[in-house]
Amino acid sequence: GDEDLDSAASPLPSVSASHTDRRWSDTTSYAGKKKLRSWFQLPNGNWELGKILSISGTESVISLPEGKVLKVKSENLVSANPDILDGVDDLMQLSYLNEPSVLYNLHYRYKQDMIYTKAGPVLVAINPFKKVALYGNYYIEAYKSKSIESPHVYAITDTAIREMIRDEVNQSIIISGESGAGKTETAKIAMQYLAALGGGSGIEYEILKTNPILEAFGNAKTSRNDNSSRFMNHAYEQCFLKMNHVVSILIVLHLFFPLIMDSGIHKLEKLNLMSAKEYKYLRQSSCYSINGVDDAEQFRIVVEALDIVHVSKEDQESVFAMLAAVLWLGNVSFTVIDNENHVEPVADEGLITVAKLIGCDIGELKLALSTRKMRVGNDTIVQNLTLSQATDTRDALAKSIYACLFEWLVEQINKSLAVGKRRTGRSISILDIYGFESFDRNSFEQFCINYANERLQQHFNRHLFKLEQEEYIQDGIDWAKVDFEDNKDCLNLFEKVPSPLTQLRVFVLTTKGVLLCYIFYLVVCHAFGIFIQADLTDEESTFPNGTDLTFANKLKQHLNSNPCFRGERDKSFTVSHYAGEVIYDTTGFLEKNRDLLHLDSIELLSSCSCHLPQIFASNMLSQSNKPVVGPLYKAGGADSQKLSVATKFKGQLFQLMQRLESTTPHFIRCIKPNNFQSPGLYEQGLVLQQLRCCGVLEVVRISRSGFPTRMSHQKFARRYGFLLLESVASQDPLSVSVAILHQFNILPEMYQVGYTKLFFRTGQIGMLEDTRNRT
Ligand code: ATP
Ligand code: MG
Repeated sequence: GDEDLDSAASPLPSVSASHTDRRWSDTTSYAGKKKLRSWFQLPNGNWELGKILSISGTESVISLPEGKVLKVKSENLVSANPDILDGVDDLMQLSYLNEPSVLYNLHYRYKQDMIYTKAGPVLVAINPFKKVALYGNYYIEAYKSKSIESPHVYAITDTAIREMIRDEVNQSIIISGESGAGKTETAKIAMQYLAALGGGSGIEYEILKTNPILEAFGNAKTSRNDNSSRFMNHAYEQCFLKMNHVVSILIVLHLFFPLIMDSGIHKLEKLNLMSAKEYKYLRQSSCYSINGVDDAEQFRIVVEALDIVHVSKEDQESVFAMLAAVLWLGNVSFTVIDNENHVEPVADEGLITVAKLIGCDIGELKLALSTRKMRVGNDTIVQNLTLSQATDTRDALAKSIYACLFEWLVEQINKSLAVGKRRTGRSISILDIYGFESFDRNSFEQFCINYANERLQQHFNRHLFKLEQEEYIQDGIDWAKVDFEDNKDCLNLFEKVPSPLTQLRVFVLTTKGVLLCYIFYLVVCHAFGIFIQADLTDEESTFPNGTDLTFANKLKQHLNSNPCFRGERDKSFTVSHYAGEVIYDTTGFLEKNRDLLHLDSIELLSSCSCHLPQIFASNMLSQSNKPVVGPLYKAGGADSQKLSVATKFKGQLFQLMQRLESTTPHFIRCIKPNNFQSPGLYEQGLVLQQLRCCGVLEVVRISRSGFPTRMSHQKFARRYGFLLLESVASQDPLSVSVAILHQFNILPEMYQVGYTKLFFRTGQIGMLEDTRNRT
């Protein structure tokens, strides 16, 4: 009734943003108006919508669905929005912005297959786990012509294109979410839209058809997603030469080595090389095939895609041979040859096949797998390996072959798509990064993934919150400060280097008597509590006596002062990530970080007679810097260091962040509504936890209370000045701007005039743009 409408129009409830647990809640207690809709929390944590029947003192009587009537404490009720606001397509429009209201609104839409909802500038996408009728040419055309305005990946992609052209700034579409939330699907949908705008240039076909290659080689079936992306920074970059013309696609890929071994490889089964169960590497996982996926058909699609990107039949054969070699390497076993536990490979089918496939001498392969050359001073010593060392060497070799192959493929795709097309002009990058992970047991992989997510989160925070505030303040806009979650403490844990230490390091590395200083350096490093930064993990990884336990103890000893760190029993520690606490088990941490590919293996690969030398020449050799033969040698100087996995990972991440910093970001947050990949099932708790993790509500709150659209006086005057019906006495940009604002009757509360820019509430510029486009 009328009362409902009143509350819809009522001003924003005041919100305490500083209180962590309630950061998301709207803390207005229900002051109590009868007949109003209200949320009541059931013992299982779910919220139910009821109506207040009566209020007496601190208690209310509320009627819930199915005729239930309850007497509850008024303070336990949370305001619900009037029904005219059910299913609004932007959460900004909600009068009451609390957790149950947001959950309800998203669910209300989800039930009707409206899987997209805006949260201010962010697009929320809830995985439907079924085909929804929202894609294809009809919709692409509709979004292009703006005849549909409901939130969509197409709409956000369209905005990115328009802003790229309007502002002449590169754009990025950053897609985040948990595993299985729908990031990769979303990226493909965005690419579909970009490709369609390419309009008959033929390139769209190529862009979409290359996907099967990357998916086949880079994805894996995991327990949480049949098609999980396991390659890092799976970023596609579209370059635009002219307006609306997709002219080339550049695929930037950074591999994350340990993950490939863990999971990337089962997809190879699709290549029908041999039954998957025959390979040890594949046996490590229990997932052999994916329901409903026809392996032969997949294989055909991959081959077709390789044809399209002009990988010759001969090269294709090498590719498959190399894949087979990786699998066979896993089957190579060792036998003890002396009483010091040194081993050599058994010359069985596995070893023979590997040698044949990569085209090398079986004797050389044996040596590469069972010995290591050490350089001490000017001498070279050949050292026999123990079983665990030999196994590591074998696995490192397999990982490298696989990783280099993947990188080579990406290069081929890029080359083929860029032929004859200059890479100039502005670009839109689509970033699909695997989301925050927290399992029962979390190891080095989760550590790296979560660190990457922590970084992305900072990017998100910075962009949407910090920059926002700073800009208001700088431009003299009156705007109440809003606190936001800052994850700096957590990031410090991963990467902080106190400045004196950086200097110290230079000192150490240029001083003679290297070894002494080296040890001193280790001690000092640890005293400063450095984590992943080429330091703690690296030093421990290469330092002869480093074990998981000493590593864990050092962490506990030195990081305890960081509020985001907590030492646990045994070899574990807890990190408070922005998305929640994760307990990491350091067992195998150092091992995984080491991932050394020894010089011997590299030499072997570059000398063999198959296609490897071409494929690997550029990749593998460039990765290995100068040869490294052990910790003693390592102390010799910075340029002789072999980078550990963590350091490589961090380097790639920094490069990526640097690229992103120079773009205008657009954010899509994918949400997984249940853990069963099941359509229609919407689990409140699970959705809520993800919404909390990605800070969707703070964004809405800030955007709504602020002025998210802004334009310099000059730009505004230039862009809309020609729409003025009467000439303005003074031609300075500010006067012209103000005249435009008056002519279009833009209400004073809808904008603010800053020193250099005009600031608008959401939706205001849209009207001006429409008029401009019609003129
Ligand atoms: P990971 O981090 O493990 O790579 P992801 O977030 O990339 O996960 P996707 O592979 O994109 O997840 O999505 C998982 C599955 O969810 C898809 O295989 C598909 O079945 C389904 N899915 C996701 N988005 C959609 C959509 N828009 N329409 C239909 N199905 C979808
Ligand atoms: Mg994916």
